[in-house]
Amino acid sequence: MLPVVALVGRPNVGKSTLFNALTRSRDALVADMPGVTRDRHYGVCHLGPRPFVVVDTGGLSGVEEGIDALTAQQVRLAIEEAQVLVFVVDARDGLLPQDQGILGELRRSGKPILLAVNKTDGLEEQDALGEFARFGIAAMLPLSAAHNRGTDDLIAAALPLL
Ligand code: GDP
Ligand code: MG
Repeated sequence: MLPVVALVGRPNVGKSTLFNALTRSRDALVADMPGVTRDRHYGVCHLGPRPFVVVDTGGLSGVEEGIDALTAQQVRLAIEEAQVLVFVVDARDGLLPQDQGILGELRRSGKPILLAVNKTDGLEEQDALGEFARFGIAAMLPLSAAHNRGTDDLIAAALPLL
């Protein structure tokens, strides 16, 4: 079986865009509307020397009632089946309280976490990354999923952990 990388983060940070960049498909649902991806979505990344499975998840919104409870459950299942967790945050929004909550959830799993700081296009890298250093995650990677920048470094960081 191929190793699994899960993409986790708030709605609208660019998880599905990253999924598309990694799997080079138009399969994942990308939308301007937050919270569109309700289910886990699987693809295979063939861009590195070894293939791995990528799981796109709906966002953890912090509102866990009704459909959001289902989404949160899907995220937890994705965390369970993954070897590596890619925590996607939005450089434009900056660090939000929900990010802290999601990180807590990820840390409870004990699995390795890569912090992908997305939407860094047009921003100074140091400004974009700065406040996320507070998370204390060693592997902090600037990303522009929409412009396919930083994906190679993300793959290179994930592979040794798989
Ligand atoms: P998800 O809810 O986390 O899956 O986020 P989506 O992938 O659906 O993206 C949400 C919005 O952010 C869409 O309008 C994307 O076009 C936009 N977006 C995604 N990645 C980037 C990026 O690297 N830079 C910019 N500027 N926008 C992005
Ligand atoms: Mg999505």
